[in-house]
Amino acid sequence: MSGTLYVVATPIGNLEDMTYRAVRILQEVSLIAAEDTRHSRKLLNHYGINTSLISYHEHNEESRSAQLIAKLQGEESIALISDAGTPCIADPGYRLVSRCRQEGIFVVAVPGPSAVVAALSISGLPTDAFRFVGFLPAKTHGRCQFFEQIKDEQQTIACYEAPHRLLSCLVDMVDVCGADRPIAVARELTKRHEELFSGTVAEALESFAQSAVKGELVLLLGPAPERQPEGTVRETLLRLREETELSWKEIVKQVAKEFGLPGSEVYKESLELR
Ligand code: SAM
Repeated sequence: MSGTLYVVATPIGNLEDMTYRAVRILQEVSLIAAEDTRHSRKLLNHYGINTSLISYHEHNEESRSAQLIAKLQGEESIALISDAGTPCIADPGYRLVSRCRQEGIFVVAVPGPSAVVAALSISGLPTDAFRFVGFLPAKTHGRCQFFEQIKDEQQTIACYEAPHRLLSCLVDMVDVCGADRPIAVARELTKRHEELFSGTVAEALESFAQSAVKGELVLLLGPAPERQPEGTVRETLLRLREETELSWKEIVKQVAKEFGLPGSEVYKESLELR
C-alpha cells in the first residue's frame, strides 16, 4: 500500500473559504508540499496546523516530484497546495499528479476555491460551456494573435491577467474582437475591494482607464454573436452549386444548418433549381 496524494484547494483571498475537510486533511498528512512555504505558513497558522512543509514550485517540480513519489511509496500521505486556489489550475502540480498516476498512487481531490470558477459564477455570462486559457500572452503581438484564434468562439473565454496589462489587453480586444463584445472583469474576489465589472469591451476600457488598476483579475470574454447567413436560401443553394463540388444532398444539409431550417424545406427549394 502506498500513501495518498491529496490535492487541496485553499482560499483565494478570504481565509474563511477553507473547507472543514481541507483543514482536517492538512492536519492529518505527514507532509504538505507548498508553492511558497512562507506564504502558506500564514494560512496554516491561522488554522493551528503544524504539519511540516516542503517547497514544490515550477522551478523544482521535476526533482521534487521524484522525492515526493518515494515518500508516497513509503506509505506517507502528502497534501499538495498552491499559494491560492486550486493546485494545477494555472499553478504547479500536474507533473506530480501525472507521475503518481503512472506509479499507481492514489490521488484525491479536496475541492474548494478557484478564481476562474468564482468569477464565472457571478459574471452573468453563459457558463454552460467555457474555455479557460490561463494567463494571456504578455505582449501585444502574441495577445492579438491569440485573440484572432478565439474571436469567433461560441463559448465564454476565461483568462487570468495582471493588473498592469489590463488596459493594453482591452485595447487589443477592442481591435480584434470588437468594441461591443460583452466582457466581465472580476477583481479581488472574496477580498475587501471585490468588484465585478460587466459591460462591453469598450466600456471596460473607458472605466478602467479612469485610475490605476490594482489587485488580482479574472477576465471573461462573452461568446461571439452568432453570424447571420448572408443572402436568401435560394441564393446560397445556387452559390454553393456554382462555387463548390458538393453534391445537392451535401448542399441541402449545409444550407439547412446555416439557416437553422428543416432539411425537407431546403430540399424542396433545391428541387425547383435542379
Ligand atoms: N490556482 C489558482 C486558482 O485556482 O484560482 C490560480 C493561480 S494563478 C497563478 C493566480 C491568478 O489567479 C492571479 O494572477 C489572478 O489572475 C487570479 N486570481 C487569484 N486570486 C484571485 C482573486 N481573489 N480575484 C481575482 N483573480 C484572482
